[in-house]
Amino acid sequence: MKLAARVAKIKPSETLAITAKANALKAEGRDVIGFGAGEPDFDTPVNIKAAAIKAIEDGFTKYTPVGGTDELKEAIMAKLKRDNGFEYKRTQIVVSCGAKHTLYNLAQALLDPGDEVIIPSPYWVSYPDIVVLACGQPVIVNTLEKDGFKMKPEHLQAAITGRTRAVVINSPANPTGAAYSPAELKALANVLLDKDILVISDDIYEKMLYADFPFANIATVEPKMKDRTIVVNGVSKAYAMTGWRIGYAAGPEEIIAAINKIQSQNTSNPASISQKAAVEALNGDQKIVTTMVGEFRKRRDIIVQLLNEIKGVKCLSPEGAFYVFPNVSGVYGLSYKGKKITDSTQLIDYLLDEANVATVPGAAFGSDDHIRLSYATSLKNIEEGVKRIKNAIAKLD
Ligand code: PMP
Ligand code: GLU
Repeated sequence: MKLAARVAKIKPSETLAITAKANALKAEGRDVIGFGAGEPDFDTPVNIKAAAIKAIEDGFTKYTPVGGTDELKEAIMAKLKRDNGFEYKRTQIVVSCGAKHTLYNLAQALLDPGDEVIIPSPYWVSYPDIVVLACGQPVIVNTLEKDGFKMKPEHLQAAITGRTRAVVINSPANPTGAAYSPAELKALANVLLDKDILVISDDIYEKMLYADFPFANIATVEPKMKDRTIVVNGVSKAYAMTGWRIGYAAGPEEIIAAINKIQSQNTSNPASISQKAAVEALNGDQKIVTTMVGEFRKRRDIIVQLLNEIKGVKCLSPEGAFYVFPNVSGVYGLSYKGKKITDSTQLIDYLLDEANVATVPGAAFGSDDHIRLSYATSLKNIEEGVKRIKNAIAKLD
């Protein structure tokens, strides 16, 4: 059957594909340990669930305004003020079906064919394809492990052309966990200040920061950037609400109105019940976030230590998010039963087949020397899973 050419230009989301594969193997009875899914293993907090149940019981089950209820927009505005010091009007907020949907709508709203979006690599799998689906051109800027996987101002400067429309900054980052300090963000802002370029600030891992500096984005450190920054965030990660599908954008009115218009012709409003739950997440007790983040930090320390004990594996200690991105190139060239492992895809296939451990190949994030493990899983799974990886790698010669 003939399909639109755009379908062939993108790949399915590898993070989701691997998670689905691991779950299918588990359903068949295989004892697979999953480091694939980038989602908290914690349950959605009870106060949030109760708000959703109440929404159903109250009959809050009809269409809402396309871009979200005023109540939720107010909760988002209060959050942005409280956590980030930003003042926004209601007309500067739009709620979508997850931050991925927000980013998709944003690309649709901003890009004409050939418009360029600068994406630092390693990048979250969906950024380039979301740009491609909007007929834009992803411009990948490689960052180096020795720089903590952070884009340097000179690298940003070198990537800018007359077609550059936007830059994506995701801090803390998926998949590396890299987090930009306020000073590093200021240096990037200095490159952009005299240029007509937007910043898409994906702050979804804002709460998962273990560094010794506070969370900041480019508009907090350089207020002159606020009118050119679109803050993207959501409740999936901070409140263990991945399935509820609520994300949002805050930014210039014209862009928000454009997203609203686009959304009115695709999903309409995000689920009314999820919106009520998100209001409770943002306005309710925030202790749960601190508890979860404390757990992630413990797990990070352990997984980094265990991975670094494996011959051929080198793992930086990430400053945020809940991923590690070990360099596994020391294993490339070794063989199992005569079959050589030469890249991240072959390695993750081997680890799944031999060790029953699901990981994501670095190639999906633009770096074939690495693999990604999500440590949003129990300490028991981390210890057992990394032991299995160690044993499987020890079998290679
Ligand atoms: N941005 C990044 C960097 C992510 O890792 C994710 C993970 N899903 C998202 C955005 C989207 O999150 P969601 O659609 O669940 O809000
Ligand atoms: N963002 C998460 C991840 O990278 C969830 C899956 C997805 O949306 O890509 O694993």
